[in-house]
Amino acid sequence: MSYKLQSFDGINEPSSLATSQDGLYSASSSRKSGCYVSAKTGFILTFLAMATAAMVGVIVTFAVPKTNDASDCNCGATQAPVVGGQDCTTQGTPSTQAPPVATTCPACPECTTPLMTTHGMTASTSASSEVTSSSPMEMTPSYRLPTSLLPVHYTVILRPDLYSKVAADFSTPGYVKISINCTEETNNITLHINKITYDNSTIKVFHADGNPVNINMVTENKQLQFLIVDVTPNLMAGNMYTFEMNFTAELVDDLAGLYYSTFDRNGTTMYLAVTQFQATDARKSFPCFDEPAFKAKFNITLERRNNTPDFEDYITLSNMPLDHSYIAEDGFIADVFQETVVMPTYLLAFAVCDFKYLSSVTQNWTMNTYASKEEYNKTAFALEVGVDILRGFENYFEIPFVLPKLDQIAIPDFGAGAMENWGLITYRTQYMLYDPNVTTAGTHRFVAVIVAHELAHMWFGNLISPQWWDDLWLNEGFASFFEYIGVDFTRPEWNIHDAFAIENMHPAFGVDSYPTSRPIFATNVNSPNDIDRLFDTITYQKGASVIRMMWNFLGPETLRRGLSKYIKRKEYGNVRHQELWAALSEQAKEEGKHINVQEIMDTWILQQNYPVVMVTFDSTHIRTMQTRYVLGNTSEGTDSEFDFKWSIPLTFTSSQNRTYENNDIHWMYRNQTEATFEWPNTINNANDDWVLANVQQFGYYRVNYEESNWKALIKQLTTNYTLIHPSNRAQIITDLMALVSLDSVNISLALTSLDYLNQETEFVPWYAALNEIGYIRNMLLTKAIFGKFETYMQSKLEIIYGKIGFYGAQDESMNNRLLRSYIVGGACYYHIKNCTDQAVLLFDRWMENETNLIPPDVKSRVMCTGIRESRSDTWDKLFNRMASQTPSDQTIILSALGCSREHWVLERYMTYAFDDTKIRRQDARSAILAVVYNPLGRDIAWNYLQRNWNHITTVYGMSAGNINRILRGLASRLTTQFQRDELARLRDTLGSDSDYIPFFDNALQDVDLNVAYVTKHYTELETWLGASS
Ligand SMILES: [Zn+2]
Repeated sequence: MSYKLQSFDGINEPSSLATSQDGLYSASSSRKSGCYVSAKTGFILTFLAMATAAMVGVIVTFAVPKTNDASDCNCGATQAPVVGGQDCTTQGTPSTQAPPVATTCPACPECTTPLMTTHGMTASTSASSEVTSSSPMEMTPSYRLPTSLLPVHYTVILRPDLYSKVAADFSTPGYVKISINCTEETNNITLHINKITYDNSTIKVFHADGNPVNINMVTENKQLQFLIVDVTPNLMAGNMYTFEMNFTAELVDDLAGLYYSTFDRNGTTMYLAVTQFQATDARKSFPCFDEPAFKAKFNITLERRNNTPDFEDYITLSNMPLDHSYIAEDGFIADVFQETVVMPTYLLAFAVCDFKYLSSVTQNWTMNTYASKEEYNKTAFALEVGVDILRGFENYFEIPFVLPKLDQIAIPDFGAGAMENWGLITYRTQYMLYDPNVTTAGTHRFVAVIVAHELAHMWFGNLISPQWWDDLWLNEGFASFFEYIGVDFTRPEWNIHDAFAIENMHPAFGVDSYPTSRPIFATNVNSPNDIDRLFDTITYQKGASVIRMMWNFLGPETLRRGLSKYIKRKEYGNVRHQELWAALSEQAKEEGKHINVQEIMDTWILQQNYPVVMVTFDSTHIRTMQTRYVLGNTSEGTDSEFDFKWSIPLTFTSSQNRTYENNDIHWMYRNQTEATFEWPNTINNANDDWVLANVQQFGYYRVNYEESNWKALIKQLTTNYTLIHPSNRAQIITDLMALVSLDSVNISLALTSLDYLNQETEFVPWYAALNEIGYIRNMLLTKAIFGKFETYMQSKLEIIYGKIGFYGAQDESMNNRLLRSYIVGGACYYHIKNCTDQAVLLFDRWMENETNLIPPDVKSRVMCTGIRESRSDTWDKLFNRMASQTPSDQTIILSALGCSREHWVLERYMTYAFDDTKIRRQDARSAILAVVYNPLGRDIAWNYLQRNWNHITTVYGMSAGNINRILRGLASRLTTQFQRDELARLRDTLGSDSDYIPFFDNALQDVDLNVAYVTKHYTELETWLGASS
């Protein structure tokens, strides 16, 4: 979906870059957090899981024969769009009573037979011979639509009615007409519907000549979200039909489908309606064929009023420009939009609001940025970088943006970060607005990053869409990679590429280190819950990381031309990853590079985890050996068709030549455990010479060396760290710490890589180091040696804090501004007195008078320290002031309120978090995590959650994703067996079919690793701190 939600309280979340009151940034998505998708491979559990309808986190990897790749199934060859890819189902005649019984084809779940149809679209028929029975999988019904009917064109008319201002009365009456192409004889029309009411009598089906088709029965399968209209006689292949109906959709504040959002204007609650359809909520707005391969054209009409108090200036927006308006009935005005291009339902978007906009007109398109009339001026930065980046992508891909306009709109209540609707991109307000006086460096940068992400989707996702959600990484991995390319078009001075590894690869390593991780290309994706779970770190950050690795081994120009070829071939169609490999291999071949991209990349996208490469050398050769990096219970997830070997592009540099650009690629292939390369340099360990592998960390793997080489690298850091690239300085620290977890290096050795930090002045290595230190800090928080640890951290931070302080020059670099947030964050967290004093001073002055602005880059630390050092009346004052602040400042305050040292205040904050009148739903998780991350709040939050579990999960109805994040945040702070047992006790009260069990299992896995870490390393940590202080 949209932007990477999972990282919003992680390292990509701009405000928490410096907000998290735990200071040191052990992002929840970083090391030691397991995977988002727990896959219990046991047969019994799988069977039980299958029997439940809406389970979470289980049907991901289970015991079916694993498909090699689609080429074994003759799937990859087709170039035409294929609708309904996963159609190894026995749809046959859907029962009118029960869910259609269907089986997922176990041997070859993606295999379809292309079939040309009259409209040049391609349909597929089920490969019935592949359907097997007698498998427990039969218990899972297929959520996939049959492919006998293909929508070609929709007319949709919607009237979002929120003018009463009484939420209970809101609704969206509507009408839909769909032109359907029949590709295979069938006796029913099956399409998606969810939470929509209708009168059967309005459902009509017509032949192409306008004669009605007889309807026998209309049924709805609520589990599958199917509307099934049985007809006689059968609909015949080759004919066109028209389906139409009237209906009423919900209009509630659930952030899904067409929903309503509110904001305050001078004490008046203002209402707007807006959409979020990805992945499966278009069907909540109108009945439709709601899968990405069912592409069609749409004529959208939205009705509005502008003659009601508080709704005077209301307008509507959709994907395309307005064509014309007319007066509809009941005082409504109907806005008719131009017909869309061929597109999937999930990219449609509608908005009804009184927002204003800024505009930039170019030769081929107009870009507008919308926000409330109080704030639209703050969209100037998003507009400026948006125009630069969209133009940049047009040149890069050599493919124009195909729509006449592109609107970007800031929405007050938005579940994700942003959503790439074609022609109408939606953003959570704080990720689109920029005000130089109040916006932090992190948010400033993030606005550009998120705009680049969404604009990259105009090609990756919109112009070409995945055949099915299992290849979601073709959208999100590419959009996440092109954030860096896109921002570099407009702000090259930010050197944003240097930060790729710390923002993407390191968090991906974090979740991909466990046997229960999953491959990038997902298997067994069936239900809406299965799909929702794919919007995770593996899809986004690991996906982006392996793309960047290709960028390096193919060469930037080869990748660019290959991608252009790939997109042009399939524009307006659907793709599978095999087609990407083919285009890239062809491009490489044309340029005289013989690289079989599929053979290499299959090892990276079809198996979980990643390699650790042991590098040894003598004066003439370098030898490498690959093993699988995996932590925890390795008896799980042991199955891989590549036996956990990868085709690894290796690069080397050394103290002799220190080259960090265009290093030669040395391949270690998936059939090799070891490889030897000639190495002309004369390296002499006695002279502290060193070798460094994985230059700029382009490769998605970790590196280990013999101790002598590690010591030489660490010595280089302390003598002159600038001789090692900043990305590799970050790599040395993070690889070492990861190898400690694997028991491959001694923790004492790893800790010495931190010694040079009091000299380090760059953002990227500091960021990586503070993340690693954050983990150690979490392990020691409540231990007797924490005081010594705090002293050690003061000694590392004092010099850089003295240099960077609270204030920077006007023209200071972005990286320096980002560094300031971190260094001030750490200095105040670890009680460096000058920092605390400054923060309290700034906070008090701002509390006295809001015109005494706090420098944006230190605002979160100032707020947190201010609350930490004050009493409850100040807390109340800040809480009451929150509503009137900008959205990004609200986020900062939300975290700062968790910094209190008063127990009862924290307890009360927990109750506020679950009270809609106090804290917005989208913010509840942040508030709770703020308490969890306060060392004094952890147990308060945990006790509260235990006591109120039923209320939170059923009455309040917190989303499963948020529950998961909270459990993981909590688990990151639990270090004792007693705490683990408490967590296990709550899990055991839930019943084996609870959706939350996999989340608890992941959290328990985290705690197990923490307990083991503390048990194993505590004494050494104590010694190290004793020696360092
Ligand atoms: Zn995205």
